[in-house]
Amino acid sequence: MDSCLICAIIAGEIPGDFVLQEEHVVAFRDINPKAPVHVLVVPRVHVENVAELAATSPQILAAMATAAQRIADSETGGQFRWIFNTGENAGQTVFHVHGHVIGGGVLSWDPA
Ligand code: 5GP
Ligand code: ZN
Repeated sequence: MDSCLICAIIAGEIPGDFVLQEEHVVAFRDINPKAPVHVLVVPRVHVENVAELAATSPQILAAMATAAQRIADSETGGQFRWIFNTGENAGQTVFHVHGHVIGGGVLSWDPA
């Protein structure tokens, strides 16, 4: 998928600061970090959003969750927020599913 930013980063066509590269999942640092640690965890397969991934490849979504925890274990003492913006009105700008792993310090905004 030539027009997808995340597919291009996975393919090495656009540089990415990778923190993890697995068979089905990769993770790289967000170019505009909103917290001391801000990593995007993504499946290699191009799927638009988290619900579509859950419906088509739940095992890959599970692999993303364990990857997010391992990143947090090494960078934030295991504590993190995991955000999937879904749809333009929710702030999704890249339509290849990506979980934002946010952490480091005490997060100031609590959605709950
Ligand atoms: P969304 O708004 O779709 O939930 O998240 C897209 C994220 O991709 C944003 O946080 C934005 O900072 C990040 N981003 C946009 N362009 C690039 C890029 O070229 N490289 C990296 N590493 N992140 C990017
Ligand atoms: Zn893609």
